[in-house]
Amino acid sequence: MTEVEAVTPKQVAPGEASLHESIAGTLASQGDWRRAYEHLRVALDLARAEPSIPEQLRREVDRLRRERAQAREESLRDALTAVYNRRYLDRRLEDLLSDAHKPLAVALVDIDLFKNVNDTFGHVVGDQVLRRVATLLREGLPSHGFCARYGGEEFMLVLPAVPPDTAVRIAELARARVEDHPWSALCQGLSVTISVGLAYESGEAVANRGQVLEADDLLYAAKHAGRNRVAYRDRTGDQVVEYCP
Ligand code: GH3
Ligand code: MG
Ligand code: MG
Repeated sequence: MTEVEAVTPKQVAPGEASLHESIAGTLASQGDWRRAYEHLRVALDLARAEPSIPEQLRREVDRLRRERAQAREESLRDALTAVYNRRYLDRRLEDLLSDAHKPLAVALVDIDLFKNVNDTFGHVVGDQVLRRVATLLREGLPSHGFCARYGGEEFMLVLPAVPPDTAVRIAELARARVEDHPWSALCQGLSVTISVGLAYESGEAVANRGQVLEADDLLYAAKHAGRNRVAYRDRTGDQVVEYCP
């Protein structure tokens, strides 16, 4: 076996194929056809093997891209409930609220007497309740709307470009879905309700103070009215607290 024959493509660095090719050219010009042929054959083997290098690189780049996209998505999701987290919410709200021309409704959702759920059924059940409530809240959202965990047992539904009447209906259906969920299947004796403060552009009150503050005020109105309610302002700016059993 000659020295040249011992060279295999895997042992050779990229670019070495053209080196063998030019050696073959030099040897051929000297009339050393046998050795020129051997170098040319190695160059050919290397050239054939070359596509596997870019292919491997391409797969590696694809894998890294996938991992980066997954890490980015995870950094914007709440670990417990998988809805968007506060970081995502704050960023999106900043953008959405800065565009005064597009209507925006926000609903601040708070699980009623959730401390009792933890105290009575334990924190593991409490966590399961948070996950299910998050799933129920996501179910009725319009295509551009999203749900985020605001903190603790509070969530926010963000509803861009949704008319006030529709926003009220979405909030009320979410409240009813949570109330009607078969909670006792999760734990005997368990029942869960939510209170909602819904704010949308209904004039100066919202424009001046911001939807989030307004939704917070309305949430407290829903709590004080007895919980398991949606509070919002009607067209005249009057506060409405609704409970539709
Ligand atoms: P209200 O109807 O007035 O909102 O009463 P509440 O009991 O829901 O409100 P409170 O603020 O007294 O209690 C909220 C509870 O939520 C206390 C806290 O331990 C619980 N909580 C917050 N985050 C989590 C969580 O990630 N998992 C569990 N299991 N509990 C949580
Ligand atoms: Mg709360
Ligand atoms: Mg609560």
